[in-house]
This record gives sequence, C-alpha cells and structure tokens, in this order.
Amino acid sequence: MLNVAKRGIGMSVFSHPEFHQHEHVSFFQCEKTGLSAIIAVHNTNLGPALGGCRMWNYESDEQALRDVLRLSRGMTYKAAITGLPLGGGKSVIIGDAKKTKTPELMKAMGRSIDSFGGRYIVAEDVGTTVEDMNNIHTQTKHVVGVSHDGEGSGDPSPTTAFGVYTGLKAAVRYRLHRSDMRGLKVAVQGLGNVGYNLCKLLAKDGAQLFVTDVAQEKVAQAVKEFGATAVALNDIYSQDVDVFAPCALGAILNDGTVKALKAEIVAGAANNQLAEARHGDMLRDRKILYAPDYVINAGGLINVYYEHATRASGKAVDRAQVLAHVQKIDETSETIFRRAEQDGISTSLAADRIAEQRFMAKAESSHKAA
Ligand code: NAD
Repeated sequence: MLNVAKRGIGMSVFSHPEFHQHEHVSFFQCEKTGLSAIIAVHNTNLGPALGGCRMWNYESDEQALRDVLRLSRGMTYKAAITGLPLGGGKSVIIGDAKKTKTPELMKAMGRSIDSFGGRYIVAEDVGTTVEDMNNIHTQTKHVVGVSHDGEGSGDPSPTTAFGVYTGLKAAVRYRLHRSDMRGLKVAVQGLGNVGYNLCKLLAKDGAQLFVTDVAQEKVAQAVKEFGATAVALNDIYSQDVDVFAPCALGAILNDGTVKALKAEIVAGAANNQLAEARHGDMLRDRKILYAPDYVINAGGLINVYYEHATRASGKAVDRAQVLAHVQKIDETSETIFRRAEQDGISTSLAADRIAEQRFMAKAESSHKAA
C-alpha cells in the first residue's frame, strides 16, 4: 500500500473539492514493478463500478487524485443516464505510458483491481490499450475490453462513434427539424479512433465535413477519403457549419470558443467538453443546442457492459443487442432536450438531474427495503 502522507496527499481526500461522497478510494504501490495507482469508486447504487484505467504522467499526486475523483463520479452519471445497471469508478496509474509501462506493471494493477472483489471493473482509457487489458486479465476477471480472442469485445471506438452519430442526429432533428443528413455541414475536431469513425458515418449519409487534427496525415486521409475540407486547428470553432463535433480534448468549450461558434449544435465524443459548468448556460444563452458529452459518447460503455454481462453467462456478445441499446441514445437525448426547454435550464444540467434522480432513487428504495 502507498504511504499516502509521504506522497503529499495526506488526509485531504475527504475535504478535496472533487470528493463527492465517494464510497471508496484506494492507493496502491508496488516497488518491484514501479506501480503507483489510485482506484476510486464513486457510487455503486445501480451496480458494480465500471470505468477505465488512465495512465498519465501527472505533475503531482494531487493532480492524479483530482482526476480519478472527477472521472469516477462522471462514470456514475454516464451509467445512470444510459440505463445500465452499473456504478461509477475509475483508476489512474501515475507514470509515462510510453516509458514506464511494462506487462509486469499492468499485472500488478490487475492484482490491485482484483482486491475490490468485483466492485470495480476496469476498462481501457487514455494511455492504456487492449494489450494492457489482456495483461490485467491474467490477474483478475474484473476487466472488460480484452481482445476478441481473449473472449472480449476489443476496441469500443466504432460503437462510441455510432452512439455519437445517433445523438448528433437527434440534435439535428430537434433543432434543425430535419432527418436527412445530406449537405449538413459538420466541423469535426480530432480524427482519432472515434472522430474518424464518426466522419465515415457522416460522409456515408452525405454530410459535408470540415476537419482538423494535430496529426496532418489524418487530415490528409479524411480529405482524400471523404472529400472533407481541411481547417487550421484554431479555426475549427468559427466554421460556418450546422454542427461542431469535438472529438479530441476535454475543456474545449470555454469563454473564447463558445463565443466563436457559428454552429447551432455541439455534439461530439470528447469527455468533459465544458471547461466549467457555466459554459453549459453560456451555450444555452447563445441558443446553441449542446448534446451532453457523457450522454452521447456512452456507446463504448454500453459495448463493454454487454461484454461483462454475457461473459458471466458464457454466451457470445449479441451485437444487435448492443447496437439496439446504443440506439436508445436517440430517445435519451430528446428527453434531455425537452426537459431543458421545459425547465429553462441548460441541457447539461438537465442530463445531470435525470442521472441523479436515477441513482439516488435506487439508494432511497434500498434504504426503505432495509
Ligand atoms: P484518440 O486519441 O484516438 O484521438 C484523438 C485525436 O485528437 C487524435 O487524432 C489527436 O491527434 C487529436 N488531437 C489532439 N489534440 C488536438 C487538438 N488540439 N486539435 C485537434 N485534434 C487534436 O482518442 P479517441 O479514442 O478517438 O477519443 C476521442 C475523445 O473521445 C477523447 O476525449 C475520449 O476521452 C473520448 N471518448 C472516447 C471513447 C472511445 O470509445 N474511444 C469513449 C468515450 C469518450
């Protein structure tokens, strides 16, 4: 176990601004493999906590703690709004994934996860891969996203992209009153695993794409494959388009970028798009319809949930069942848009309230039963 005080976190966990009645926060250290990790379980009212393992070269332990507390809470909301019997958790490994990651380190992480006895189920995240999940799988069964031949569902990104596209179409129908994507102008920021797959779906339906990425080769590929227009990194916000789809970084909706937007809709894959909660209100004031990130990027979570559920039953994952659940993002998005309009609040707040009602209601009914 990690000596918490020595690493400068001290007893500040309970009073941490990102601590929101988390059920369990554990610190792990393994001298032999160099593992320093934190696992946070925010809430398990609806079921075991499922969330990714992020490996990042944090500048301080405090930064790592902040990240794991914030991300694990976000997973509770995502699972609840998606209608999955799951709670919220997340783990972080402190270190440079390119330099210090080894199979042994990931196996030590697997043993740490196993000590939760199934209350926390791990998946891939930034800095971890399917191969890492395979290594974790040698030590614990509480892992999803392992490779196909290792009885898993593999890369969840195409399913995430399908969910984002479903939410984007719901927003287009709600705000622009159209269901035909032909000629719809969409600016996509980030052409990674999700962004590129989203472009594919949009291009297939005839949308006109405007794209940017720090990796110029990805931009060139999208120009060639989809006839997309290449846009400079900082110009992506001010494109004269119908939809802005952020699929790269978090916190990109801030004072400057929200003012610059010409799109009537923001719908993308990136996690934690709002720099601060008030930017949800700012979007609403500007009459921009925001499809909340954690609502429409839940396809990956749905994918791994079915992997977990079917593994226990010994059956193969039913792709049609997964896609049918992802398709519900359409209905959920519309419910959120309507609730926001009725209550005169931002869509981000409407989503939070619906999610809270679900996981808090479960806690209340359990207390009553007890
Ligand atoms: P990725 O790393 O494959 O792709 C991110 C892309 O963004 C890369 O091509 C990168 O070069 C580009 N990029 C980085 N900085 C940029 C910048 N300043 N401007 C433009 N492009 C930039 O990641 P991904 O798996 O495609 O995920 C994209 C986003 O969606 C992330 O925020 C991720 O957390 C979120 N998300 C992903 C999944 C999933 O299933 N992969 C699920 C839920 C949420």
